[in-house]
Amino acid sequence: MAQTRFRLSRWLAEHGLSPDNRAEAAKTVPDGARIAIIGAGAAGLYAGKTLHDRGIDFTIFEASERIGGRLGKSTALSHMPVDLGAEWIHGHRTLTHKLAKKAGADILEDESELALWFDNRLYDERDMPKAFRSLYAKAMKCRGPADDLTLTEWAVAEGLPAEQMVLLPALANDSGGSAHRMSAYAAIEEESRSRSGEDDYKVRDWTYFDLVETLVAEPIADRIETHAAVERIGYDKTGVTLAVGGEEHRFDRAILTTSVNILKSGSIGFEPALPADKTEAIGKIGMEAGHKMFLTFTEDFFGSQEVVGGAIGNLYYDARIGKSSDRPTIGVFTTGERAQAMSDMGREGAITAVIDDLDRIFGGRASETFTGDAVVQDWTTEPFILGGYSYPTIGMGDARETLAAPVADVLFFAGEATHCDGESATVHGAMETGERAALEAIHSFAE
Ligand SMILES: Cc1cc2nc3c(=O)[nH]c(=O)nc-3n(C[C@H](O)[C@H](O)[C@H](O)COP(=O)(O)OP(=O)(O)OC[C@H]3O[C@@H](n4cnc5c(N)ncnc54)[C@H](O)[C@@H]3O)c2cc1C
Repeated sequence: MAQTRFRLSRWLAEHGLSPDNRAEAAKTVPDGARIAIIGAGAAGLYAGKTLHDRGIDFTIFEASERIGGRLGKSTALSHMPVDLGAEWIHGHRTLTHKLAKKAGADILEDESELALWFDNRLYDERDMPKAFRSLYAKAMKCRGPADDLTLTEWAVAEGLPAEQMVLLPALANDSGGSAHRMSAYAAIEEESRSRSGEDDYKVRDWTYFDLVETLVAEPIADRIETHAAVERIGYDKTGVTLAVGGEEHRFDRAILTTSVNILKSGSIGFEPALPADKTEAIGKIGMEAGHKMFLTFTEDFFGSQEVVGGAIGNLYYDARIGKSSDRPTIGVFTTGERAQAMSDMGREGAITAVIDDLDRIFGGRASETFTGDAVVQDWTTEPFILGGYSYPTIGMGDARETLAAPVADVLFFAGEATHCDGESATVHGAMETGERAALEAIHSFAE
């Protein structure tokens, strides 16, 4: 990745052009050249926008029936639409925050208070136990493979009291994996490199999906083919051949944006096989289950807060933030082994388990006031996603950089897992990788 960036910046300097310059990009890319993008999630859509803005011909192949990937919208609740996947804009220094601002969208900060449930009581964030608070600070100090422990091993080594261990899944939740598999140091080190800003935002009365669909996908809608699963990618230095539904399509370049679990699954064949270091990198990047749920109630026993520490869901939150509806609606956002457990329970089993968990925390109020109106999204069983999002495992090293590197200068890699500067596992990060890969593809014609 470092090498790719160096070469890209050198090329831009040599050509004296800004990557936004349509005329200069058109000079670099030969007439009639065509680029394929595989996947219409955030990365693929933004790669398409990047090429579209420069007048370069492209087609996006999307396996499922809809665009968005891990961005999705449900209108199944009668009173408000909900985000099935990504919901918050993580930070004000992000591409998506900038896009929303430029479009004049009504952006609001989610100021929900954090509450921690353990030892049979709800703690206010300000009363967060010292041992738990200092875990984060101490993890920042560990360096190198000798200290490369899982979050659970690290917490045990640091003497986190047993009753506070229940908070670990919630700590691991944002990073997308299980506490006993995730590298504590690498997760915190990646987070420390993020420059996007601390706070979370939403656009009033819009889902995150609406934002990306309206501002990124709509202008390129005629270039997207849905129900078009790429089954095989043949490549050599002259270009790529994609096998889609029994037909072969020839392109000069291709940008692959699928999730790392899709790459692990082998559902896309490569001819020749991908280089061994690339395959090894794919194996090293973690991606576990991802699950979301929305439940509506007749009474507001929950309030406007986020609760972590429950035994089933990793994060319970007030899903009405940013929506005009005031009908009590709790969102449940879970990754890692707990999300897998919810996936295994099936829709009704998972709803019952969450209601029981909320009953434990809120003295039986959940089952008393549950309306039965619910939305459940299991990302693990989505055949073209297969989980939540990428996270750093023990010994992962520079696997993200290796995954992001082009192959044969015709095959380019994007998608959240390829973000190497602390913005993986996000929508804005995925988009940045789409832009990076599109510019690399343009650059490759100049060599
Ligand atoms: C539950 C959950 C909550 C999240 N919350 C947030 C949040 O609040 N904020 C945030 O910033 N991020 C959040 N994220 C992360 C964010 O959604 C992802 O990082 C981002 O959307 C990934 O985009 P992508 O383009 O890299 O991948 P994807 O969205 O996975 O897109 C890849 C696309 O490739 C398609 N595809 C797969 N195989 C093929 C094939 N063979 N041929 C053609 N197409 C194929 C897929 O159908 C998919 O559309 C969340 C994710 C989950 C799962």
